Amino acid sequence: MTQFPIFDGHNDLLLRLLRGDVTAEGVASGLPDGHIDKPRAQQGGLGGGMFAIFVPSLGGASVSDDEMCKDSYDIPLPEQVAEAEATSWTERGMDAIYDLEAAGAVRICRSAQEIEAALPAEEMAAVIHIEGAEAIDRDFEKLHAWHARGLRSLGPVWSRDTVWGHGVPFRYPSDPDTGPGLTDAGKALIRECNRLKIVVDLSHLNAKGVEDVARITDAPLVATHSNAWAVCPHSRNLTDRQLDVIRDSDGMVGINFASAFLRPDGRMESEFEIDILLQHFDHLIQRLGEDRVGLGSDFDGALVPDKIGDCAGLPNLIKALRSRGVDDGLMAKITHGNWVRVLRQTWGI
Ligand code: ZN
Repeated sequence: MTQFPIFDGHNDLLLRLLRGDVTAEGVASGLPDGHIDKPRAQQGGLGGGMFAIFVPSLGGASVSDDEMCKDSYDIPLPEQVAEAEATSWTERGMDAIYDLEAAGAVRICRSAQEIEAALPAEEMAAVIHIEGAEAIDRDFEKLHAWHARGLRSLGPVWSRDTVWGHGVPFRYPSDPDTGPGLTDAGKALIRECNRLKIVVDLSHLNAKGVEDVARITDAPLVATHSNAWAVCPHSRNLTDRQLDVIRDSDGMVGINFASAFLRPDGRMESEFEIDILLQHFDHLIQRLGEDRVGLGSDFDGALVPDKIGDCAGLPNLIKALRSRGVDDGLMAKITHGNWVRVLRQTWGI
């Protein structure tokens, strides 16, 4: 493993397992496609990250990349997913990450110390994240049960509405201030996550939702996979005002590699120079400071730049950051140090 192992704020590898596209053994031995497997992680210096359990719109339409290849767009979001349906999917997601651990592909981490120990290891450090909390009940019984199984991070919504709040739609160009924020139940969920020291992810929340979380939690504010709105005015990205709130909480942002959230023209097209990603990097560093920027690739969940391709291509990004004058100290922070710091601050261990 390299001198700068990467801890990444967001990937959707578990979705591939849940859909039956790949097996845990396949991830351990190598896959013919997709963005992440163990051999390519080794090759590219991917030491681990947040592994999302994302509940897709089962049976319903999903958000297609083609729709994001226009000059402007506002993609209708799928229907809410029922709690029972989301629960069985999330349970399977939990099983899937334990399968990955049993296959020797990951080590499930519950503390910053465990991440630090796992980063240089062959297995990827894996933090369990739920993206969209449809499966959680209002008494939080499942939240507690999954926390006991290793859940350490949660996004109250993926972009479609839930009982907890309203997500931000996929709209370009658009401000993230797109509607009402969290419901009363959603605010109670944030309080409970804060009590359990579970990370609350701001990515996919709209502007009012972000403000609600900022008012309730006393943990550092975290957007695991979002970019700078000043560079790409997409509803999924963070305005300077939002970045200031994140900075003031001593939180951080993981840079999302999804082409539509990087390119100033908002298109989900992957042919472009890494320089565009570096523009987000420069802006985030300028706004948040060197201690509050990391990576949040969205590998296996989005169309990423051809110049990165998959996790084996991460050294191309490191090289580009070097050419931007990033020294060893800052490189260590961006690749993993800032994530470890924020997670330690949130979890207390
Ligand atoms: Zn996402």
